[in-house]
Amino acid sequence: MIVTEQAPVDFLKRYYGYDRFRPMQEDIIRSIVGGRDTLVLMPTGGGKSVCFQIPALMLPGITVVVSPLIALMKDQVGALLLNGIPAAFYNSTQSSREQRDIEEQCLTGKLKLLYVSPEKLLTESFFQFLRRVTVSLFAIDEAHCISSWGHDFRPEYTRLNVLKEQFPDVPTIALTATADKLTRHDISQRLGMTDPAVFVASFNRTNLSLQVLPGQNRIQQIVRLLQQKPNTSGIIYCLSRKSCESLSAKLQEKGFGAAFYHAGMDPTDRSRTQDAFLRDDVKIICATIAFGMGIDKSNVRWVIHYNMPKNIEGFYQEIGRAGRDGAAAQTVLFYSFADVATYKDMLNENRPANLDLQLAKLERMQQYADAHTCRRQILLSYFSEELPDPCGNCDVCRDPRITIDGTVLAKKALSAIIRTGERVPINLLIDILRGSRSQAVMQGGYDQVKTYGAGRDLRFDEWRSYLHQLINIGVIEIAYDNHYALRRGILAEQVLYGNRKIDLVRPDDAPKPVVEKTRTKTEATRDELFEQLRVLRKQLADEQNVPAYVVFTDTTLEDMARQKPTTPDALRNVSGVGERKLQLFGKQFLEAITNYVRGKAEAGSKPKGSTQLLTLDLFNRGMSLDEIAAERQLTPASIISHLVQLAKGGYDIDLETLMNELVTPTERADIERGLATVGMPDGRAKVLFDYFAGKYNYAQLALVAGVFS
Ligand code: ADP
Ligand code: ZN
Repeated sequence: MIVTEQAPVDFLKRYYGYDRFRPMQEDIIRSIVGGRDTLVLMPTGGGKSVCFQIPALMLPGITVVVSPLIALMKDQVGALLLNGIPAAFYNSTQSSREQRDIEEQCLTGKLKLLYVSPEKLLTESFFQFLRRVTVSLFAIDEAHCISSWGHDFRPEYTRLNVLKEQFPDVPTIALTATADKLTRHDISQRLGMTDPAVFVASFNRTNLSLQVLPGQNRIQQIVRLLQQKPNTSGIIYCLSRKSCESLSAKLQEKGFGAAFYHAGMDPTDRSRTQDAFLRDDVKIICATIAFGMGIDKSNVRWVIHYNMPKNIEGFYQEIGRAGRDGAAAQTVLFYSFADVATYKDMLNENRPANLDLQLAKLERMQQYADAHTCRRQILLSYFSEELPDPCGNCDVCRDPRITIDGTVLAKKALSAIIRTGERVPINLLIDILRGSRSQAVMQGGYDQVKTYGAGRDLRFDEWRSYLHQLINIGVIEIAYDNHYALRRGILAEQVLYGNRKIDLVRPDDAPKPVVEKTRTKTEATRDELFEQLRVLRKQLADEQNVPAYVVFTDTTLEDMARQKPTTPDALRNVSGVGERKLQLFGKQFLEAITNYVRGKAEAGSKPKGSTQLLTLDLFNRGMSLDEIAAERQLTPASIISHLVQLAKGGYDIDLETLMNELVTPTERADIERGLATVGMPDGRAKVLFDYFAGKYNYAQLALVAGVFS
């Protein structure tokens, strides 16, 4: 039933501009075009879309894509059209005229993909319509919605089993980012799939860096983080609606373009905020976890958790919204034991049916935050995936920790806390432990306490680091309601009387708050071009009425800024530049890069290709060969060789006219004969010049040779 002899990778290059498939994509595509029902589990950003879009291009009829979110459909179709793939969506927001128009396009075979909502799909009229067209494939996106085990169950999805009843011969592909086995089984069964091929991709998102920071002075730390990432999009997840609003206000005060988002806002404000974020009009969103579901924005460069999430599933899903385009993205979790205590109190108060389960999940999350081993190994092991070696892209890997047995330290601290009646705050406690004769110590009579001076051997900042760690793991607690006095935490009894061993990290190795950082000069220049391209992208996206990342992803812009292509062919080599986008946007981007490179060349540095571009500039102004050579203080032959290279790179340069000016047809034929005889060893015309004993000049030879080869 396949209509094409072309390999899947040809479609990938032509329509998406990518050279290689990611793991499993090609196998999935082959499974589908082979007519087999297929189930795909891939993390967010893993690249599920091409798994059904390329089969749609390869198969003869139309692919019907079932997708739960109408808002998303529009952007997905917009992205397909910009890639030159004929697609449309069909839903209740359209007029009957628009719908008829789309039906017409389906019937005449003009469309390859049709996106519908499950509600629309399951109407009798739609089924009747489907029977009149050739459906080659059903693709069920966000397929976990079909399972009541999943976290996003949608009743409409359960009726999708009728697809198999009504169209038993049409293969189905179901795709989801939800991994657990129960949901997986449920999906294939409820869709009535027959012996599906199941593909489970790795959930390791290597481009996401992982970092845990102490939950103190968070706003100051966030400001420093954001200063290191100007103009990038990101999400800050907060626990409460109120903190979303206040954090966003504080960031605005400090000059950042931030907005907030939570379920308590009215729907219009909410969708306006979401839209502004999608379109890069607002860069920073302070949100509750209500934000992000079904958001397809690929250039979210960072996700910060202001508070610790309740469990690892939620956490992984939230950080998963960063870096979907595959470019590096940063994730930061602020961790303080106070958050754990808040959740525990909430759970113990509400006593949900699965209290134990929720507490256990909370504990796993806390273990992640406390870990002194590779964080990615912890995350992946939670999802039953093994990562044999430490990842190298988390704070622990980058900054390995040495742990010490801190049990005695913990006992000393607890003893001092108890003997002072759980009334002293951290600094005073350290003074007592270190045997200081400060005013506060003497006034309180704390020099009489038995543990006074028991911790003399450690410096003040060492004690502070150890105490913070003990607070973070729950050995000690801060009494926020009692002047920040330290008191026994939930692990205190076990440490004092139960032989519980406590590992602490040496203070120099413990996670440190974010410090200000300056960029290197190379980083700054690379970022400069990226910035200009980003602005251009936004402008073009607004003209096309699509989000910026739909024009080109950040990865593509980064690749452009690195390669600095100045010819259409070179631009084609940039990952993510397919034929259609080259046509639509190539000129503008080449112009921007050319201007940048030229500006640099004039300022004295000489990036690759800049000398040719200076020549091109003069040539386009209508100057003659000799004039250009004089202006540039180069030989006419060098100018010719620039022009030949530019023409080969895809620039529209009229070499034939130039040829007519430089040689007669007989002379040209003569030189070509010479070329065929002696050639151009090492690309140099010297041998040819000698062969003709100076009858032709180097410019003539270079031009004929350039066109000839
Ligand atoms: P998902 O639906 O699984 O979240 P997408 O299909 O949106 O992921 O793909 C995520 C990003 O990865 C998109 O920007 C997409 O263009 C890109 N991508 C997909 N396949 C490849 C590939 N083979 N090479 C490079 N980038 C790819
Ligand atoms: Zn690691």
